[in-house]
Order: sequence, then C-alpha cells, then structure tokens
Amino acid sequence: MALPRHSRIDAALDYLSPVALPVGQLVRVPLGRRVVMGVAWDGGAAEPAEPADPGLPDDLAHPSRPSRLAGPVAAGEVGEVAELKPVAEVLEALPPLDAGWCELVRFAAGYYQRSLGELALTVLPPELRDVDGVQLQRRLKRLAKRSAAPSTAGEVPGAATLPPLSEDQQAVLAALAASAPATHLLHGVTGSGKTEVYLRAAQAELVAGRQVLVLVPEINLTPQLEARFAQRFPAHRLVSLHSGLTPAQRLQHWLAAHLGQAQLVLGTRMAVFASLPRLGLIVVDEEHDPSYKQQEGARYSARDLAVWRGRQANVPVLLGSATPSLETWLNATPAPDGPGRYQRLAMPRRIGGGALPAVRLLDLQRVVDMHGSRVMREHPLAPELLVALRERVARGEQSFVLLNRRGYAPVLHCTHCGWKSGCPHCSAWRVFHKVDRSLRCHHCGFSERVPRACPVCGDPDIQPLGRGTERLEEQLAEQLPGARIGRIDADTTRSKGSLESQLAAVHAGEVDVLVGTQMVAKGHDFRRMTLVAAVNADSALFSSDFRAPERLFALLLQAAGRAGRDAAHAARSEMWIQTWHPDHPLYQALQAQDYEAFAASQLAERRVASLPPFSCLALLRAEARSQEAALGFLHEAARAAEALGAVQAGVQIYPPVPAALQRVANVERAQMLLEAPLRPPLQRLLAAWVPRLHEGNRGEHRVLRWAVDVDPQAI
Ligand code: ADP
Ligand code: ZN
Ligand code: ZN
Repeated sequence: MALPRHSRIDAALDYLSPVALPVGQLVRVPLGRRVVMGVAWDGGAAEPAEPADPGLPDDLAHPSRPSRLAGPVAAGEVGEVAELKPVAEVLEALPPLDAGWCELVRFAAGYYQRSLGELALTVLPPELRDVDGVQLQRRLKRLAKRSAAPSTAGEVPGAATLPPLSEDQQAVLAALAASAPATHLLHGVTGSGKTEVYLRAAQAELVAGRQVLVLVPEINLTPQLEARFAQRFPAHRLVSLHSGLTPAQRLQHWLAAHLGQAQLVLGTRMAVFASLPRLGLIVVDEEHDPSYKQQEGARYSARDLAVWRGRQANVPVLLGSATPSLETWLNATPAPDGPGRYQRLAMPRRIGGGALPAVRLLDLQRVVDMHGSRVMREHPLAPELLVALRERVARGEQSFVLLNRRGYAPVLHCTHCGWKSGCPHCSAWRVFHKVDRSLRCHHCGFSERVPRACPVCGDPDIQPLGRGTERLEEQLAEQLPGARIGRIDADTTRSKGSLESQLAAVHAGEVDVLVGTQMVAKGHDFRRMTLVAAVNADSALFSSDFRAPERLFALLLQAAGRAGRDAAHAARSEMWIQTWHPDHPLYQALQAQDYEAFAASQLAERRVASLPPFSCLALLRAEARSQEAALGFLHEAARAAEALGAVQAGVQIYPPVPAALQRVANVERAQMLLEAPLRPPLQRLLAAWVPRLHEGNRGEHRVLRWAVDVDPQAI
C-alpha cells in the first residue's frame, strides 16, 4: 500500500488480504486509528521469495501474502507499521482501476518524483477516501438510475444534419482517420474550426463505443465546450471533472467515467487521471496553455501526461492550438532523418474565409512626437486608438482592451518622500484597489485600508503609479462618454456564476468596450467584436522568464482571435498594440501573423542558451524562515547530487539563488536549477537524489518545505 508520506519517497505499506486482490482494486485499510482508502498495487511482487501460485494470473496477489496498496491519507498520520494488518474492506462493488490507469499513476509518480500514495491522493476524488462499501452501494444505485439511457454507442447525428466541413477540416479529419493511433498537433488559426474537428473525431470513437477525454486549460472554458459537446451528442452521457465541482459531484462524475457510463469526460488538468476503461481518444485544447502544469504538490503536466497516456493506451491524442508550445512544435517538426514524433495537421484558414484581424503597431514614440509628452502620461490610450474605439461604438460593434494586470494601480507612492506600498510580508508591492480603497498583496493576501497620509513622512499626497484594469475602466469611461464600458477580471468574477453572466452580457451586446485580463482573451466566440487593443504588452518583452516571449505571442494572437470571428466584420477587424518597441521581432512576427517564423527564432535562441526543448530542467525549491537556511539546504543538496555523480552523468547543477519572488508571507524562498541534455540521466539522478533529500532535511539546514519541480514552467 503506497501512502503519501512526505518524509519518505517510498511509502508503500503491506497489508494482509484474506482474498486475492487484483491490481487496482479499491480497498479500505486501517491506518493508525483510522480506516482509509487504498489501491491494491503490485501484489506478490513485493515478496519475490515466495513463488507465485501458477493457477493465478500474474497480477493477482496470493491470498496468504501481503498485498501492497496505494492509499491516500493525510500527511503525518502514518504510524509505524510493526506487523501486517488485515485489509478492512474490499470495495467489491467497484471494478478495479485498470492496468492503464495504474501504469499512468506509476509513471507520473516516478517522473515527477512523488510517492505513489501522494499521487493517488492527488488524482482520486477526495470523497472516495471516506466512503465505505455501504455508502458506495448507495451512490452506485443513484448512478445506475441516472444512466438508464443507452450506455454505449448511443445515437450520433447523421452527416446530413451537420454543417459541411471546411476544406481544411476535411483534410485534417481524413489524415486523422488514415493514421495509426499517434499524437497529432492540430495547428489551426483562431476561428479555423478546431472544435468541430474535436467533435467529429470524438463522434467516430463514440460510435465505436469508446470513451473520449477532452482537456481544457481553464475551468471557465468548460461550460461553453461542454454545451457544444452536449448539444452534439445528446444521447451520450457527458461528465466534467474540475475543481469547481462539489466533492459529491466530483465523485459521481468520476464513478460515471470509471464504470464506463459516461462516454465523454471533459475537464481541466486533473481529468487526465480519470479512470477510463474504454478510452478511445484524448483531446487537449489550447495545448500550449501554462494552466496544464500543476503548480503545487505533484507538479505534473497534464498535456505531457496526456501524450504519454495516449501512447501507452495506443489511442490518438489531438493537441490543438493556434500557437503551439515550442516543445510541441519541435516534436511536430520533421527531423532531417525522418518524420517528427508528432504528426502536424494544419488549418491555416478561418471558417468562412474571413481574414485574421490586421495587426497595427502603434508607435508610442510617434504619438508623443505628435501630441506632446503629456499625452501618454495622463491617458492610457493614444488619441488614435480612442478614435478607433469611438468608431466601433458608433457602428454598434464591440472592442476589447486587454490589460493583463488587475486592480487600480500596481503600487501607490508618496510624491514627497518616495514611499511605496510594499507588502510587509513579501518582496512585492501591494496593489491599490479603489473599489474598497484597499492595498492588497496578491501573493499573501495581506490587505489594509489605504492610509490617509504617507506612513513615512505624513504627506497626504499619495498617488497611484501605473495602471490596472480597474483604473483603465474608469479612464475609458471618462474618455468615451456614452459608451458602455465593461470589465472582466479575477476581481469582477469572484462570485459563482458572475463570469457567465458578464460574458452573457457581452454576447448580448450590452457592452461596447470590454476591459479585461487574459481571462477574456481565451476561447470566447464573440460575434460582434472588431477591435482588440493591447495597451501594456511591452512589460512582458524584457522579462527574465525565458518563456515570457512565447506566452506573450500566444496571448496577443489569441486576443487578436477574439476579433472578426463573424465573417461579415472580418475585413475591418483590427488588433492594435501600443508599444515603444514596434520593431521588436516578436511584434514583427505577430504583425505578419507568422507563428512559424516566431517559433523558428525562439527555438534558435533556446538552442543557443540550451534551454527547453533543447535541454531538460528540474528545479529544486526550498522555503525556510531565513534565506541562509534555504540556501544552506540547497548547497547541501548540490553536494549530495555531486556525490551521486551528477556531473559525470552530464547533469549540470547551477548555484542556488534566491527565488525571483524571494519572500512570500514571511517565508524566504530559494531555488537551484539542474539541467541535462536528455531526460534519462536527469531522471536517474533525481531518482537517487530525492530520497537523500528526504533524509537530509534535518539539523541546521532544516527547511520548512522543499520540492522538486520537473520540467518547471519558469526558472
Ligand atoms: P477555433 O477553436 O479554431 O478558434 P471554433 O471551433 O471556435 O474555432 O470555430 C469558429 C467558428 O466557426 C464557430 O462559431 C464554429 O461554430 C464555426 N464553424 C466551425 N466549423 C464550421 C463549419 N464547417 N461550417 C460553418 N461554421 C463552422
Ligand atoms: Zn512620504
Ligand atoms: Zn504579501
């Protein structure tokens, strides 16, 4: 039984089972004073001394031998197991998790350096931990009632009732149908009809009685995709899996998938671990999106695991994007000596033949030369852009102004002494929110009312510096009198259902100019939008994050894709970018809408710098009360890695450094980067090293927390 003990890497525990337990069987076992859920793991393999009963299949545990189980329990609850205890209950009402699922979890645990038990804890529905056999029976009865509808090969719409496919869609679907199961990159511009490709590909699997898994990056994109799938396949059961469900819902949905009652499973990254006994296809929409990487606990990449799962189950994987991640793009690029690892399928044209919005780079230096230097200091938008917005308002069209920073102003300052609104607990500024006149730290949550006067010198003149969406909304309202300004960001959408209602208002034409963060830039099919403007994109150009250009390019192209989706307006649709650097290669590639050129230049830079995808990284992060302790732990860890032959194996260890955000909630953070040209040597080192780190975290170098992040997003 593998249990999530954070202090040890291998937390498998043995229990005695009165009956043969198939691998993947859910059971309940005593642990300390509690009874918790467990998963039967590799049975007799734990006891090689005793020969397996020849009459039993390999994957069955011998009744008289201990069974190894993986079971989620909370950390720190594990007592010493002096003698083998019997399994308390076998949840026989549930079929065992299949071999494919067990392999996936085993692989993920190994690759991301977590224990089996911790991974199981992360990926099984939390509610499952507490149900006993009786409660489970009750739930299953309820499920059975709901799935009285046909459970396999339900009706699907005939070709006649569906819109004819575009040429690009036809070509892509033909290529998919002709291909052996493989990983495909569906590289389609925004509005090229990728969703229709997903629907048709799914249809083929549903007809054959198989299950389809669809991953989306963000919870707020699930309802619209869910609606489209549900509408297309009314006779099939669709369930969603994401963190917005209640624990009870999540368990019901999980069970429906596990029992094969749900044919369509749609969800965020956690859904990659759904139990799908008849899996036939995996779709990963917007595969480049950073949300696919889990940022705490087991830091897995759902996109990468989807590819692994597809290959292992021998089912096709469809990775869709207008701006693929550079990793995926390289994988889908034919090598000099053969095809790429992924098959590339292209849809370069929009449905209806509409043009992509023209990209206009508005040179702020020229704006200042023409209108004087005050113009950009006092107003967020150049006069030219305001004119363009007014035209849209007059024509009854919509505009979207993208500013990727919420709040009123990122920092307040004192004009007299220069005091700034820092967070006392973090190495970060507190953001000014005007609605409730608060200064809020977006990292630790610390919030206070804005002081009446400067806390240092007492001067009453404290002013906002810079601009967030809240201030932009206010300034636009002043400059566009009569226009209906709306705003959508994390602050306006906190309550349940508010995002849906605000989006509905935009769709209904109740908003002329929408101000919003990246949250609005993704996926939404706004029909009346003809202008998208990015007003502070430059800030990401010179970021220290090596993925920042890739992210910015994807965000801007995706935002541009919100405009001109209705072919009737496409010709006059525009994306405006206010910039001090119109000649920057990123903007030039964007203006040419040339993803391939951008990818080629980025890949060339990454190759020179030996950054991913030309190297493999792992980041060891440590958090401690003092920076010295955090760095001390990392130095110790570096010595341990060297002792294990890291350097000889080709794994480079970089010196420990304070994290970019050095202090959060009074905890000091530091990190150390490991880099290798290939995965296997890095993986081998990590496998030997991580157990040492568990043992080594004591004494003077003891840290509060540490974690290995394999394939980190940012370094
Ligand atoms: P993408 O995901 O590639 O940005 P969508 O899947 O949202 O594009 O499709 C863009 C629009 O085109 C949607 O409104 C969709 O309903 C429509 N569409 C897709 N395929 C077709 C088709 N074959 N015929 C007509 N309209 C289509
Ligand atoms: Zn002051
Ligand atoms: Zn803080």
